[in-house]
Amino acid sequence: MAGKQTLTIIKPGAVSNEYIGPILAKINSAGFHISAMKLFRLTRNQAQNFYSIHKGKIFFNSLIEFMTSGPVVVAILEKENAVQKYRKLIGATDPSKAEEGTIRKMFAESIERNAVHGSDSDENAILECDFFFSKSERYSIFE
Ligand code: ATP
Ligand code: MG
Repeated sequence: MAGKQTLTIIKPGAVSNEYIGPILAKINSAGFHISAMKLFRLTRNQAQNFYSIHKGKIFFNSLIEFMTSGPVVVAILEKENAVQKYRKLIGATDPSKAEEGTIRKMFAESIERNAVHGSDSDENAILECDFFFSKSERYSIFE
């Protein structure tokens, strides 16, 4: 399965702005299959674990506040070369640097409130999918 899955989070800002539908439409138009999905509010513990690589950075506490401020949509997306293709679709971390037509260019409010997360490597994609979904919650087109 390596290379065919990535994890996305539609972050609280995009959810509260009613962008779930438009963002999922972009994801489907780009040819991704949604194989798992849920809407819920991250606990502090979940957000801190998920972003543990950024612990100690100046924006860490603010990021955790933001990510736990309201519900998120977490989903597994499937396509050949999913991680790289999805990073291209979402655009740069800072929306002011993101290309036209990317999800962050269209729906982000700031570098912190940047609409969506996308896994940054196949290895992390596997870890992140396992963090949020059991095997019985997935409906893969590849297996
Ligand atoms: P993500 O992991 O959410 O997909 P990314 O991989 O593009 O984003 P990272 O460097 O992993 O970027 O940063 C994780 C998240 O932390 C960013 O998406 C953003 O919400 C926040 N962040 C990153 N850099 C900054 C910053 N300089 N100031 C404020 N928030 C930031
Ligand atoms: Mg990242």
